Amino acid sequence: MWVILRSPYGIVFGGVLIALAMVGLCTIVLYESRLDALERARETSRNVALIAQRDIERNFELYALSLQAVVDGMQQPDVLALPPHLRRELLFDRATTARYLGSMLVLDASGNIVIDSASDTPRKGNFADRSYFTVQRDNPNVGLYISDPYESRLRGGLPSIALSRRLSHPDGSFAGIVLIAVNLEYFHNLFAGLALGPHGAVSLIARDGAMVMRQPYDVHTIGRNIRNASTFRRFLSEPEGSFSDTASIDGVRRLYYFRNFPDLPLIIMVAEAEQDIYAAWRKRALTIGSLMVVFGLGFIALSAVLSAQLRRRMRAESELQMLARTDGLTGLNNRRTLGEILEQEWRRARRTHSVFSLLFIDIDRFKAYNDTYGHQAGDDALAAVARCIGDHIRRPADSAARYGGEEFIVVLPDTPASGATGVAEKIRSAISELGIEHAGSEYGRVTASIGTASWDPEQDSDVTAMIKAADEALYDAKATGRNKVSPFRLV
Ligand code: GH3
Ligand code: MG
Ligand code: MG
Repeated sequence: MWVILRSPYGIVFGGVLIALAMVGLCTIVLYESRLDALERARETSRNVALIAQRDIERNFELYALSLQAVVDGMQQPDVLALPPHLRRELLFDRATTARYLGSMLVLDASGNIVIDSASDTPRKGNFADRSYFTVQRDNPNVGLYISDPYESRLRGGLPSIALSRRLSHPDGSFAGIVLIAVNLEYFHNLFAGLALGPHGAVSLIARDGAMVMRQPYDVHTIGRNIRNASTFRRFLSEPEGSFSDTASIDGVRRLYYFRNFPDLPLIIMVAEAEQDIYAAWRKRALTIGSLMVVFGLGFIALSAVLSAQLRRRMRAESELQMLARTDGLTGLNNRRTLGEILEQEWRRARRTHSVFSLLFIDIDRFKAYNDTYGHQAGDDALAAVARCIGDHIRRPADSAARYGGEEFIVVLPDTPASGATGVAEKIRSAISELGIEHAGSEYGRVTASIGTASWDPEQDSDVTAMIKAADEALYDAKATGRNKVSPFRLV
């Protein structure tokens, strides 16, 4: 791992990897908090539904008790014999004055009002057409009946629902009904107090599909039957549940929670719009997400800068290393490097028992060249000769170095004396063929003399002795006419 990070591209790779890990981690956390938001919304919906359900159940229980009291009273002849104002007080307790309660009425078998909670002389009215009447008339065993919403005829068209119970003669035949009318305003006020976000909705639906109340309130939705809606069919399938769906009315996707009342034919449905559920989350996700992306990109940019710097430094280091190893004027290895190469090759030759040769090259009459053509021209000629030497050592293991002044040493591993003489001769003639004019030379051009020395494993010797031997051979070449190659001879 650390080896990768120490390379320039490894740093960028590591940076990208860490940035990706950061963004990935952030994505996971945000996704989980989104799930949390949904779960919280589901709980809120459930609580809201439960609060509304409890309130409705408590009120309806009171209404049912009031109805039952009237039914019981109507069966006692003494009560019916009382004067109207006393009878009224006895039959209808104070609950009938509660807010949202419309009228409480006793109807006879043909639907006419016979007793009215609102006045001693019953108001005129016949309700034989209403479902709360016909259902009780046609079926002796309905018990408590809750009607669909209707517009009250006694109270100027106020939307209401009615709870009714049957009155029977001792022989069981139909004697009329007792009914209690509840203003839908009750539900309207109950629902208006529930906070469900700007696009949320609460509905109370009769189990037969009639819409009793809906928040947000729209007078046209009240009483509408949604029996055929797919969502409604789901409401009937389980006592309670939740699901997400897109409403066909407004195209808003909502989380629906529904609950069937255990003892009443009613279903409460709470729907929260997903846009409301995720509003806070979305804001946070946007902030954190963009910060993460900026951090990630910043991190990558930083690692790119670091990588570029490291690359520059490595290049500089390798250039410095090269400079430290080579000679500035000729570009060949310098004397220090030559020492290392010789040491290494010497050891290798010993280990592998191979023959190993050296060439000692010295330019002829170079002092005179400098004197004639100037120091700068001398440098140029020196560089040309060095290049020529470099060009004539072909094997990868061979190497050339500037030993000092106008003297060069060529190291030829795995090369016997005859091979060394061959290479030396090639170099010598190549230098001569450069054709650099040299008036002070007997050859009229720049030439060099070369001494060679070879070492074979049988000999007991060392590097210094070999250089000395090559130098002696060179001396011999100088002494015997220059521009020539002299192999080392043991004297
Ligand atoms: P020979 O070897 O043939 O006996 O004669 P020589 O004149 O070459 O003799 P020697 O080796 O004593 O002289 C070397 C001369 O090379 C001395 C100096 O003028 C010249 N020289 C050495 N190093 C450099 C260099 O780096 N640049 C230049 N321009 N000249 C150099
Ligand atoms: Mg010299
Ligand atoms: Mg010389």
